[in-house]
Amino acid sequence: MHKNMLILSGPSGSGKSTLYQILKQEFDNLYFSISTTTRAPRKGEIHGREYFFVTEKEFLQDIKENKFLEWAHVHQNYYGTSKIPIENALKEDRLIIFDVDVQGHRSIKKHYPFAKSIFITTPTDMILKQRLESRQSDDALTIQKRIQNAYEEMQYIHEFDFVIINDDINQASKSILAIAHSLSCTNFDALALNKKWKTI
Ligand code: ADP
Ligand code: 5GP
Repeated sequence: MHKNMLILSGPSGSGKSTLYQILKQEFDNLYFSISTTTRAPRKGEIHGREYFFVTEKEFLQDIKENKFLEWAHVHQNYYGTSKIPIENALKEDRLIIFDVDVQGHRSIKKHYPFAKSIFITTPTDMILKQRLESRQSDDALTIQKRIQNAYEEMQYIHEFDFVIINDDINQASKSILAIAHSLSCTNFDALALNKKWKTI
């Protein structure tokens, strides 16, 4: 088992989904952890692809049934990571990618200490605002809330293994690919390797 896990966190609009698409083109064994959320789908989002979109009642029922590895209340909506699919993806030696907030990052690291994490952000708050506006997926009030939340999230930056300041997309893409490729050199099975070293 390689135990390859990469947690992506950072302000909404910093480029996590965009950079995830870069990883998807490069690695054919990716498993993206599809979270469950009570927020409404954005234009173009599909149930079961970006998120499992559920009602608050359904979400609270899943909490009760202990189905989540972790869950958090972010931007006035619930978001949670289900346990079972992650355990299955681990057994299949997939490269597991999470897109979670800073609370989710802490919980996942607690569960899986071998997981590596990247905090993705923009060079300034003004650039974040411009990106959120150009995405055209949120109204002005929602954008304001997301920026407010971003100031808080920036306080957690030191907890991460890597930081990508997503200014130029080509440079940021190179960085995330380098980090993802480096995982196979960190979480290796020393026991299995040593067995192969006793053949002569
Ligand atoms: P997140 O998933 O973190 O919320 P997105 O990946 O949706 O962020 O990116 C927010 C917006 O910024 C999108 O419209 C995306 O196309 C754009 N974007 C991402 N990276 C860059 C970049 N380096 N330069 C310019 N625009 C970018
Ligand atoms: P968005 O609404 O922009 O898709 O996501 C808002 C925030 O919720 C982002 O910071 C995203 O990383 C976070 N998020 C998405 N899914 C989960 C999850 O399952 N758990 C936690 N803790 N945060 C999540």
